[in-house]
Amino acid sequence: VAEDSRIYDFIARWAAEKPDEEAIAFGERRVTWAQLDDRVRRAAGALRASGVGPGERFAVVDKNHLACLELTLAASLIGAVNTVVNFRLAAEELVHVLNDSTARVVVVGSEFAGIVDEVRDRLPHLREVILLGGEDDEYEERLAAADAVTEARESDPDECFLQLYTSGTTGWPKGAMLTQRSMMAHTRALTPAYRMDADSINVVAMPLFHVGGTSWALGGLSAGARTVLVREIVPGPLLDLIENTRATHAFFVPAVIHALLEEGERARTATASLDVLGYGGSPMPAPLMERVLRSVPTPLYSVYGMTEMSGVFCVLGPEEHRDEQRTHLRASAGRPLPGNEVRVVEPATGDDVERGELGEFWVRSQQRMSGYWNLPEATAETITPDGWLRTGDAGREDDDGYLYIEDRVKDMIITGGENVYPAEVERVVLEFPGVAEVAVIGAPDEKWGEAVTAYVVCEQGESVDDQALLDFTRSRLAHYKCPKSVSTVAALPRNATGKILKRLLRSG
Ligand code: ATP
Ligand code: MG
Repeated sequence: VAEDSRIYDFIARWAAEKPDEEAIAFGERRVTWAQLDDRVRRAAGALRASGVGPGERFAVVDKNHLACLELTLAASLIGAVNTVVNFRLAAEELVHVLNDSTARVVVVGSEFAGIVDEVRDRLPHLREVILLGGEDDEYEERLAAADAVTEARESDPDECFLQLYTSGTTGWPKGAMLTQRSMMAHTRALTPAYRMDADSINVVAMPLFHVGGTSWALGGLSAGARTVLVREIVPGPLLDLIENTRATHAFFVPAVIHALLEEGERARTATASLDVLGYGGSPMPAPLMERVLRSVPTPLYSVYGMTEMSGVFCVLGPEEHRDEQRTHLRASAGRPLPGNEVRVVEPATGDDVERGELGEFWVRSQQRMSGYWNLPEATAETITPDGWLRTGDAGREDDDGYLYIEDRVKDMIITGGENVYPAEVERVVLEFPGVAEVAVIGAPDEKWGEAVTAYVVCEQGESVDDQALLDFTRSRLAHYKCPKSVSTVAALPRNATGKILKRLLRSG
């Protein structure tokens, strides 16, 4: 038996091994492994019929849908590239991303057909729109009419088959080119760490345009797990689904974990079947962490990863979460997964910092993207000549090799010549009574260069006295770290996965 070299090969393998077992549940639909393999081969045939050849890009614009996973697997089969587009983008952003990707075919959910139609004459690469779902489901028609791709193909491990855009937290989203090699390496690291196997039942609820959706899904499929694909996250129904499917694995970002806990006792009873509750993708506030530990007995796995690394590269396991002797571990992003080397580096010089000191995390492994699509300069700034990826995250490593993410390198404030990491200030502001959320940024300032500025969201029905809050921070932080001013806002700007968009606060 040839070694699996493409993500698609797993599907063929499981289709041969357990053809009639359920592979994916999506709403009312059930697809067996044999059916999945057939549908993926037909999807590949349909792409070819639409003129999408090796190395060429197509896009999917929809909430989570079975078709998106099938098309990603089809891309892996024929060497085309699925560019999964964030369906929450405004029309202007959609034009940017679709033009950037050069997608010639766009598969669009019926809910989003209107927007794509509106901007269609500004998309010079686009030759064909295929409607998905709704009354006349063109995607299903294409599949029915297509010739299934059956021939074997020599595939290059470094070919890109999946292009996912970064979340755009620190700038414009960038298309990370993920390859057969990078995703295979991710799968090899992920599945043992999360104890995923052919008996697992894996809930995929995060959006597939995000690495936390698609790579989590591909990990489960490669392990032969049954996938429960969720169209969109609505807390009550999501808990029902976890309970009814007796799911064993799920991954959510902290904002979703928070929403699930708001469902009260149901959050505990409905998740009783889970062996693995993964969370990550953005910082987990300490009070929320404590609340999760109290509310659900489920084994928790924290996940530190990024689009550029095909998903996760660090994990903190359940024993460490509930280690009463070492409660500081709960704040850690864990230790690197096998196959991943991590260094903590002074970004300006590229030298390792002393153990325990703050620096930028650099990571090297086969999981790394080949580069950013169409952005050679950003790629060269991000990947060093000897293959390290600069994560843009600042943090420390302790004596036992646990990583602690402090903040984004780009968010660091330089005020009066001193470096201030906003996360440290935010932790203090959050302790002040009445503060529900906070974001600290450096606002351009004549005197200080950047002035530490706090944006605060109050708890419902509460208000916060600015002066009292400033005095509070002065009693707990070095003066240069304290906010120079506080603004109360109704909400902080966030992206689709709940990350705060500080660049929008900085631009005023
Ligand atoms: P952009 O690169 O476009 O600015 P982004 O970095 O938010 O956006 P993603 O690739 O979706 O895009 O997210 C990866 C980043 O998310 C990491 O670099 C890190 O800053 C943050 N992150 C991921 N996991 C964790 C975690 N467990 N704890 C804290 N932060 C995390
Ligand atoms: Mg990033």
